[in-house]
Parts: sequence; structure tokens; C-alpha cells
Amino acid sequence: MCPRLLLALSLLSFATNIPAAPQSGDVAGERGPLQQLPYTPSLDLASMDRSANACDDFYQYSCGGWMAHNPIPPDQASWSVYGKLYQNNQRFLWGILSDLASRSDRSGNQQKIGDYFASCMSEAEIEQRGVTPLGPTLAAIDALKSVNELPVLLAQLQLDNTGDGFLFGFSSGQDFADSQAVIAFATAGGLGMPDRDYYVDGDQRALSLRQQYREHVARTFVLLGASPAVAAQNATTVLRIETQLARASLTRVERRDPYKLFHKMDRAGVDRLTPHFTWGPFLKQMKLSGANSFNVTDPKFYAALDKLLAAISLQDLKAYLRWHSMHAASPYLASRFEDERFAFFDKTLRGVPQQKPRWKRCVQQVDVLLGEALGQEFVARTFGPELKAATLLMTRQIEQAMHEDIEALPWMSSATKQQALAKLAAVVNKIGYPERWRDYSSVAIGRDDYFGNALRAIEFESRRQLNEIDKPLDRLEWQMTPQTVNAYYDPQLNDINFPAGVLQPPLYDPLMDDAPNYGNTGGTIGHELTHGFDDQGRKFDAAGNLKDWWNNQDANEFGERTQCIVDRYAQYVVVDDIHINSRLTLGEDVADLGGLILAHMAWRAQAARNVPASRDDLTPEQRFFVGYAQWACENQRPENLRLRAKIDEHSPGRYRVNGLVANMPDFAKAFACPVNAPLVKQTPCRVW
Ligand SMILES: [Zn+2]
Repeated sequence: MCPRLLLALSLLSFATNIPAAPQSGDVAGERGPLQQLPYTPSLDLASMDRSANACDDFYQYSCGGWMAHNPIPPDQASWSVYGKLYQNNQRFLWGILSDLASRSDRSGNQQKIGDYFASCMSEAEIEQRGVTPLGPTLAAIDALKSVNELPVLLAQLQLDNTGDGFLFGFSSGQDFADSQAVIAFATAGGLGMPDRDYYVDGDQRALSLRQQYREHVARTFVLLGASPAVAAQNATTVLRIETQLARASLTRVERRDPYKLFHKMDRAGVDRLTPHFTWGPFLKQMKLSGANSFNVTDPKFYAALDKLLAAISLQDLKAYLRWHSMHAASPYLASRFEDERFAFFDKTLRGVPQQKPRWKRCVQQVDVLLGEALGQEFVARTFGPELKAATLLMTRQIEQAMHEDIEALPWMSSATKQQALAKLAAVVNKIGYPERWRDYSSVAIGRDDYFGNALRAIEFESRRQLNEIDKPLDRLEWQMTPQTVNAYYDPQLNDINFPAGVLQPPLYDPLMDDAPNYGNTGGTIGHELTHGFDDQGRKFDAAGNLKDWWNNQDANEFGERTQCIVDRYAQYVVVDDIHINSRLTLGEDVADLGGLILAHMAWRAQAARNVPASRDDLTPEQRFFVGYAQWACENQRPENLRLRAKIDEHSPGRYRVNGLVANMPDFAKAFACPVNAPLVKQTPCRVW
């Protein structure tokens, strides 16, 4: 399916939201599925390192024990509190799916997710089929007689595959200028590696990775039956084409500016943009012949694509399409294909030593392709009305704190404040799960047809999204499944979304005192809410339209305050000599700081109603900050840190703690830090 242009701003990278690994000591999940989610407290004394000085390194003080006790499992690129909770969710879902795979009294959705899981677990059959299921796709590519025939084939390849690996991305999205309207989005894409920089950077590490990628592509062609010489030639062709596309693609920092991604055109406009790609047959295959409103996010990219198509040979085009078909299909084929993909994309790029066990990959498949059917099962078992009421109440308290915060801002004019308050009042709270579940009744899932199941589920999702074009906007839709351990703000729906999976211990802990809960989950709620007002979110108004509601003076004041964050985070080292790309992480860093400030305000108000006591030799104020910090405990492989420094809009966990408390005078007070302590000696930055 073609991914949507993700304007949504999440707590963690979408890309890192992948199945997590067994608990430490639990090699590859042999302990089996979980019948219920295990309990870990939201403030865990064993995770602390009280030998560290809180005012020198608060991350070490709060997370030192966790880091020592939780080495990275062999099938993971990193390991974290969030990753561990996600792992537990996966094992819990494994139990649900194993049960549904063998039961006979099942609802329609239960049959689909149970049988999908069973078909994915049938390794012997999958091995035996080898690459055969991909045969029709490869034959369709072989049958291409000229580059002019590309559009119909390309539309089908995009419908049948996840990712945006086929020359460009195409999906639906809200019109930036009129958020009520859903229009077609044509985006940049067509790459194999995770970012354009991998193709254009000139340093030694980049050159070496490109060579390893070329070898990986060549080995994939050999697996498809090519001779080593032909395979090497094809790999060079693929890299050449992808490099042309990469050079014409915006950088991630550029992509953070929504104005750079908004170029509305009618049908005649897109036809003019690419004379060598005829949109008519492409759109017909997509069942969008009538579409006349397009956001071409990267016109320069499409100009380069057209130039490429004008000059490309049929043979080279086929090599490129074969590679991406193989790459996209490898999770649904025999293990040698998936292993080859793992060797480059996980081992080389992220430093992961070992492939995930089969069950984990299969649970993830169901999560991605039939996610809300699985989500209904998850919610029924984990997210009751009391939990929903309690977390909704906390959300409203954080919103009240933001209301007071905006009213008290010394630097903002009252006119802009009125606009900000109107936007805040319009924010919609989505807690736990969607009000209306996705209808999967048209997706046929069989017990012994893994590849076919995946194909049908992917095409269903592609068409579901495309079908929204020129239809009334669906405000109830979610971009994350309920079992996801993450949260997001959507600037065009102007809503904050907290899946049931992120409202569980050790993040939200009904058994714990208020302080760590307000620090942890309160901080998360404040983070998402602040996204509506970070350097990107502030460009959208209360109705979700890209429209400037700031006067110049206030915009300048805002810019000065965000520059403080940019300069501060640029000092921090990710790994080796790589510093945080603080223009890429700015929105997240602003959301982190605003989030914790709002959580602290809401907690103070709560503490006035429900007076807290010291526990475990920690004052309530200290428990608030330790509770906050302990969401971010993590261990990272250096390869993964290098990758994340390029693609992740979030700073590493250490700086999401230390970089944050350094800007909070309340922290210095809570731990009685001396004025020259490392974490308090710089003048605090503050935006909201
Ligand atoms: Zn975020």
C-alpha cells in the first residue's frame, strides 16, 4: 500500500515502532505467549542508579539500573522501556492469535486474523513455495513491451505492495489549504535505502554502505536466478536510478516545512509536469479517473522522474521494477529471501545480530495488515472504561494547564493568544481506540495462502485509502492501531491520539501514586498537545488549515525561543562525532519541553487536591521527575544510532531527559542542585 504523507507527529519514530524483543534472558521468546500483560511499576527503584548525581546526569540517575539490567536482545537494534512493553504486547497478542488460529467458533474478524497468523506460521509450506508466489508479478514485468506501458503496471505494483519503493508514492490526504477536502497526494519515493542522504553523502561510511547495498541488490538478483555478472550489472542500474531519484528528493529537514510540500495541481497540471508518464491509465487502474485535485509534494522530484523516464531503457526499467518487487515481497516468501533482506537492512544498517523469531514477524504482519481487527481483541482484554475515564481526565487537566500557560505567556500578544486558545479548544481527544472499527469483511483470508492473504490485505488497505479521495472527510480514523505503544498529534485533524497500548504500566500505572504518572503519561499527553504549537504544528490553524494566524512580532518571539532549543541540542553528541541534527529534531524537542512543563503544572494542581507524600526516600517532586525520565530508558547499538541520527526526528533518550530537565528550574529546586551543576548551569530555554 502506498504510505500516506505523514504529517502526524508522534512520540517515537514511526520507523522504530517495530516488534520488540524478548525480555532480557529470554532467548528469542521461548517462554511462549503471555496470557496477560505483566506488571512493572511506573516508577521502578531497581531502574535507578542512586550512586549517580541527579544534578550531573539525571538520565544515569533515573535509568542507570535499567540500562545495566536490560542488555539489547540479539534480534533488536535497540532496547527501551517502550520496546519492552511493546514486546510484552506482542507476546500477549501471540497468545490471542494462537488461540484464534485453532478455534472453530469465531467471528468474521477472528477468522481472518487467526487464519492469517496460521498461514504466516506455516513455514514448511512457505519454504516449499519458494519464489513461486511472486511469479505472476515478475511475469507482468517481463511482459512490458515499452516504457509507455509502464503506468498500468506501476499502478498495480503500488496497490499490491507496502512502502513507496516503486518510483514514487501515491495516496490520499487532506488538502493543506482546505482540511475538509481529501485529495490525491503524489509524493517522492522510489528508493530502497531509508533516506536520500545514503545516496548523496560523500563520506567514507556512506561510500561503504552504498557498496554493501549494491552487493545486497546483486545477491537478490542471484536468488532470482540471474548469473553473477548480470546480477552485478542490474545492481549498478538500480543504484544509478535510485541515486537520480534521491538527488531530486527534499531532505528531511526541508520536509518539515509544510509549505515546501504543498503544490496543488489539477489533472492538466500533473500531465504537463510529466510528459513521459501518462496519468490516465495509471489513475484508471487506481479507479480514480475522475480525480482532478492533486498535491504534488515535490514538483522537482517529478521533473527529475520525467527526465529519467524519457531516457531509460526498457531493460533498465525492468531491472529496477524486479528489484523493488523482490524487496517488497521478501517477507512473504521463503526464508532465503527474507534472510538476505535482513542481512543488509537490519544487520548492516542497524547492527542487529539475529533475525526475529517467526512468531514475532507474524504478529507484526497481522498488526500492520489487519490491525484494527486485532485491536478489537486487544482492547477488550486490556482497556476498560475506568482506564479510559482516568486517562481522559488527565488529558483534560493537561489541556487546562495549556490554557493557563498560554494566557500567562509574557511574550505573546493577546490577538495571537486568542487564536492559540481557539486552536487549543478545538483539539479533539482520541483515547484508547477508534469509535468506529474498520470493516474488513471484504478481505478474503485463507488458512493456507500466506502470500495471497498478504496481497489481498495490502490491496484492500491501498484502495481503502485511495477511495477516500473526493469523499467527505472521516474524522474518526486513526493512524495507529490500539495495540501500538506510541502516540501522535495530527495537525490537520487537530487531534491528539493515545492508543490503549501506550496507556499501560509501566507508562500509565493505576497502582502508583500520582507524581510518576503525571511525569510519565502526563508528559506524553503534554508532548502531543504541544505538537499543535511547535514550529511545524503552529503553521496550521484550529480547523487544520495551513494558514498563518500569527502576527510578525509574535512569530519572531517564537523563532528566538526555538533558536535557543536548536543551539542547545546541536551541542549534544549522538554517537562518534555525530551531533544531533537539531533542525530535524526541533519539533520533537519543543514538544518534549512543553509537554513536561504542562504535565508539571497539571500535577501541581492535582497535588493541591490530593496531597502527596514522600515514598522510597524520594519527595513527590522528585518522583514526578524520575517518573518522567523512566519512560525514556534505553540501550542503543551504535549502528542504529548512526541511522537514527539521519532519519529520526526524535533526540536520543539521554537528551530527552537531560536536555529537558536542564530547562526546568523546578527540577533544580526538586533536587537542590548547586548553581554550577552541569544540568542547571546554562540559562534555561523555554518556548511554551
Ligand atoms: Zn512527538
